[in-house]
Parts: sequence; C-alpha cells; structure tokens
Amino acid sequence: MKLPYTEVRSAIGALTKAIDKSKNLELSTAGINLQSIISQLMSENDDLEHENKQLKDQLADAWQDKFDRSNLVKYKDIWIADEQTRSEIKSVGNQISDDLLTKMYCPRCFGKDTKLISLSGFNGDYGYEVTCPVCRFSTHVT
Ligand SMILES: [Zn+2]
Repeated sequence: MKLPYTEVRSAIGALTKAIDKSKNLELSTAGINLQSIISQLMSENDDLEHENKQLKDQLADAWQDKFDRSNLVKYKDIWIADEQTRSEIKSVGNQISDDLLTKMYCPRCFGKDTKLISLSGFNGDYGYEVTCPVCRFSTHVT
C-alpha cells in the first residue's frame, strides 16, 4: 500500500512550522535539506512505480505469449492460437474478424525463429487470403 504524498507533505509542513517557531538557524537549514531529500525520494519513487508498471505489463505479455504457444494448433498452412479459435475460424467462413486475425500466425516466421506474427487478411478473388506483414508469406484459408 502506497503512502499518500498528502500525508508526507502535511508531516513536512508540521515539521517546518515547529522549526520556524524554534528560530534555530541550524535546525532550519537541516529542515530545508530534509525537505529537498524527501521531494527527490518522492520523484524517484514515481519513476520506479512507472518502471514497475511497465515491467509488469511486459511480464503479462510474455505469459500471454507462452500460453498461446502451448495451445497452438495447425489450420491449413497456418498456426492458430488454440482449438476454440480454430473452430471459430472454420464456422465464420470468409467473415474473419480482426480479433480472429490477431490469433492467426505466420508459419514461416514461427518456423524461422518461433516468433508469433499475426496475419493480415482480405477477401481475394480466390477466397479469403492471409498475408504476413513481416515476411510476406501468403495463403488462402477459405
Ligand atoms: Zn511471416
């Protein structure tokens, strides 16, 4: 649980008032230094929090990726995220949504360095065609 900065500020405010009352120059200088240090710490804390959030997001993505790999199934020439998605793709015919496309992966990129690259798709002259935005692999899925 994060300490609210308002509490820190009010504690500093109370300390500053007490120091001012004491009319002690040495105490006053020490108080000002302490305020500066605390405000640097709060700023560092903000940076760390931001970095921590980014790392958590990256970790979540890595877990998602791992999850996808363990459930991968083949459909025609391409890789699909899981069995349920494959059934969905089979049932929608050539009405493949963008959501489905993000779960359809390039077999060439996966074979080369096990990267999961989502395919792009469109209705072509000979059925629904998917292409890889990275290596330009292309095939028909309907
Ligand atoms: Zn590719």
